[in-house]
Amino acid sequence: MITVVIFRRKKDLAEVKRKIVLTKEIIDSVITYAKSWHPNEGILILQGKKEKNVIRITGLIIPPFSSHGPYYSGFPVYELPFDLSYIGTIHSHPSGSNRPSLEDLNHFFGLVSLIICYPYDVGNIGAFDRNGIKMDVETEDTF
Ligand SMILES: [Zn+2]
Repeated sequence: MITVVIFRRKKDLAEVKRKIVLTKEIIDSVITYAKSWHPNEGILILQGKKEKNVIRITGLIIPPFSSHGPYYSGFPVYELPFDLSYIGTIHSHPSGSNRPSLEDLNHFFGLVSLIICYPYDVGNIGAFDRNGIKMDVETEDTF
């Protein structure tokens, strides 16, 4: 089930919190991918655009030579072509926690790290910056 959550907040100029916007198609793909790797972790590269404090995810790339285990998933960054649309990663946590591990923060790639934890529903997606600070995740409909 997909729940559309829209955060509306009073504009606070002191707050420069970043927000991640995902489409239903992206979320569906991520959920399917995470489930297919369970009980191991799965990892994907996020393509997207950053406009001011909004990061919009526009595509998913399966990283070359990725490794997958129950507590780790990753890929060699040097195997990636240089591409400015690569804006971060999403990986799954077969455990019930979508908090980034120390390992996740040490292997941070790009601007955002999304984590989807078991049971891989839209509400299980967390977004973090390279300091491990949580960002808002918003779902948008595409017509
Ligand atoms: Zn992790």
